[in-house]
Amino acid sequence: MGKVIAIANQKGGVGKTTTAVNLSACLSNAGNKVLLIDIDPQGNATSGIGINKGEVSTCIYDILIEEEDAKAACVPSNVPNLDAIPATIQLAGSEIELVPTISRELRLRKALESVRDDYDYIIIDCPPSLGLLTLNALTAADSVLIPVQCEYYALEGLSQLLNTVRLVQKRLNQNLAIEGVLLTMLDARTNLGLQVIEEVKKYFQDKVFKAIIPRNVRLGEAPSHGEPIISYDPKSRGAEVYSDLAKEVMANGQRVG
Ligand code: ADP
Ligand code: MG
Repeated sequence: MGKVIAIANQKGGVGKTTTAVNLSACLSNAGNKVLLIDIDPQGNATSGIGINKGEVSTCIYDILIEEEDAKAACVPSNVPNLDAIPATIQLAGSEIELVPTISRELRLRKALESVRDDYDYIIIDCPPSLGLLTLNALTAADSVLIPVQCEYYALEGLSQLLNTVRLVQKRLNQNLAIEGVLLTMLDARTNLGLQVIEEVKKYFQDKVFKAIIPRNVRLGEAPSHGEPIISYDPKSRGAEVYSDLAKEVMANGQRVG
């Protein structure tokens, strides 16, 4: 049964989608069968692996709201061994549409039952909020991976996220573990970045991944070509470090729970 990892942080622009796309691709490249689920209405993870949103017939909206079968929504990406359940802008209204539905936090978890056995890893790219979509992801997940940008105020908002994780553990999913905290967009030329690393390590201790994602121009360019970094520029520093991250995730084991 595949391990489900939610990539979450309610702050926007911290590297969630970049991490979801590139971790998924590196896990596939290492020989795992991977499913990337996009639950952000922006659909950036969807286009980041070369899926044309205009051609999507079944998206995550149909699964969460219309309760369609998740298996039917899995489509291949341009990366071998990597499938996706895409998101389109149709998802934008779903936070509100989910409110009156039955078992509204459990929809994704239920939907994944039919596909979990088909994959080694299922990675969920969350939107930048702690609303019902992110709650669905945390309820469906075995673990949460938290990207934190190496900038001033890096820890701001994280207590809110951790409170949400605890609430989910108490009420909805007692097996939810913290996969790890990932430092992203490090500019090694500044002292600030190094200070942030110290601060985050003091707070999260051994939960911080050894791999630290540098600010890397090629990582920023890859999405506009619809490719993960390992195919866009396999020799770049970004490709190297996301491969290291995938190794750490594999070393963490299949199910943390
Ligand atoms: P989020 O999903 O948390 O909103 P993104 O992954 O979309 O964040 O990243 C925000 C922006 O920063 C995107 O334009 C992305 O291409 C760029 N970006 C992300 N990580 C890096 C990096 N390590 N180096 C350079 N640009 C990056
Ligand atoms: Mg995103």
